[in-house]
Amino acid sequence: MPERSQAGRQVLVIAGVLGYLLVHGLAACLLPESLSPLSTLGIVIAELAAVSACLTVAGKTSGQSRMLWCLLALSLLLHVTAMSLDMIAEWQGKTATLAPARQVLLGTLDGVPLLLVVSLRAGTQRDLLFRIMKVVLSLATGALFYVLIFSVLPIHTNPEPATLVFISNLFDVLGIFLWIAAMIRVFGADQVNERRFFVCLSMFLGSSAILDSVHNRILMKHDYVWLDLFLSAPPLLLAGIIFMTSSRPLPSFYGSPRIVRIVRIGSPVFLSLALLLLGLFVSRSDFYIGTSAVVLSIGCYCAMNIILHERAIEAEESLAHANGRLTELVSTDGLTGAPNRRAFDQRIDVEVRAAHRFAQPLSLLLIDVDHFKQLNDAKGHLAGDDCLVQIAQALHRALPRATDFLARYGGEEFVVLLPATDGFGAATVAHTLHSAISNLHLEHPSSPSGVVTVSIGISTYDGSVPPDTLELIHTADQALYRAKSLGRNRTEILVTREVDKANLS
Ligand code: GH3
Ligand code: MG
Ligand code: MG
Repeated sequence: MPERSQAGRQVLVIAGVLGYLLVHGLAACLLPESLSPLSTLGIVIAELAAVSACLTVAGKTSGQSRMLWCLLALSLLLHVTAMSLDMIAEWQGKTATLAPARQVLLGTLDGVPLLLVVSLRAGTQRDLLFRIMKVVLSLATGALFYVLIFSVLPIHTNPEPATLVFISNLFDVLGIFLWIAAMIRVFGADQVNERRFFVCLSMFLGSSAILDSVHNRILMKHDYVWLDLFLSAPPLLLAGIIFMTSSRPLPSFYGSPRIVRIVRIGSPVFLSLALLLLGLFVSRSDFYIGTSAVVLSIGCYCAMNIILHERAIEAEESLAHANGRLTELVSTDGLTGAPNRRAFDQRIDVEVRAAHRFAQPLSLLLIDVDHFKQLNDAKGHLAGDDCLVQIAQALHRALPRATDFLARYGGEEFVVLLPATDGFGAATVAHTLHSAISNLHLEHPSSPSGVVTVSIGISTYDGSVPPDTLELIHTADQALYRAKSLGRNRTEILVTREVDKANLS
């Protein structure tokens, strides 16, 4: 939407909110006493506007956000019901003492969805048990609030001023608690929709907490009709903010990932804390109900904590498993299943250092399949692949010690590391490997022997001089080259830093 029309829309929304409040205020001041229910209608209309705004956003979002908006709409609807009943009673000219009791009941009930809203953890909440516990905690908190108020509120007579102050204080505490919780959730939101919701909610709850408190305190002394403005302003403000933020993105501030995590994990604490504090308070007048609430709060908190920890451990385990699998994948050759070049590069460093530290020999065998290109050409690439797999398996099986290490060096070349093995030992192993390959009897039309053969180049480090990994590989490569040039299907050995060599094929 262009910048200009956005600004126009905002001016329109602000003008609408202020205009409504002005008309409501004038009506409340100028209308005769007998028409005062019309002023209550003003609150009902303002709240219905907020409900419709919430439901409009809910319709445009999905998942958790939709649920949050719907719960807020539900809370407002409960309040609208209280106000409507009030209005009807006023029309009928009833100044019944039951009116405040009914208001308190619905006023208490409208806090339940809000408690649930501030405690719902962001993200996908798969655990049904977790959700059930939150609903139970919210209802228990609402019920306890209700019990607490009706323990002091007389049903059939007008309440004492001290009682009214006490009830007002309770509502103030609940309002401020919800406001603070909503503001904390703004900093814990890691999604735009969630953040927008909690920004709107904290503005609504903040203005409600302040204006409701002022309203209740003035009402205790003077029954002014214009006080209704204090009740219609917060829902109107909410509707206005919802419309304004729908056309303009919120300023992009995000809490640090750590704060987001802490708030996300800590949000279930709000509910337990509310119930715990209320339980402690109630236990002074009604020990059993108060203590039950405290036990329920601690019990649910522990159960939620156990679930969270169990999930964290599960996540840690699956991460460790995935890491292990990943490490295995990056160090394994996809075709033959043997360790790959990367694994070899790591292993040779370890073996060279160990050979030097313990002054032991170390032999390296480079094994290259003879005339492999021709085999591919004659039998196809897939047959070539199969041949490589069989060769890798045969080589692996033929290695005598568990510490011997075979890897696919690349293409049709394999490499073997033989720790604590000198040149003669390595030559013996090479002989075994030749036999293992020829025993496979893999047909090769272009090979002089008619079957697949390999050439092997050996380099040996004798453990006496400082080791040089590259030299070891380079020497084995030279030995392999020699084996190829001397006719293939044979082994050549070179000892690093020595001229001595032997033809052992
Ligand atoms: P030489 O006896 O001198 O070693 O001859 P060669 O044909 O074995 O050697 P050359 O280096 O000319 O050819 C190696 C061939 O190995 C070429 C390449 O297509 C083939 N190759 C490399 N990796 C694979 C693989 O993963 N699968 C298959 N089927 N062939 C491969
Ligand atoms: Mg090769
Ligand atoms: Mg080859």
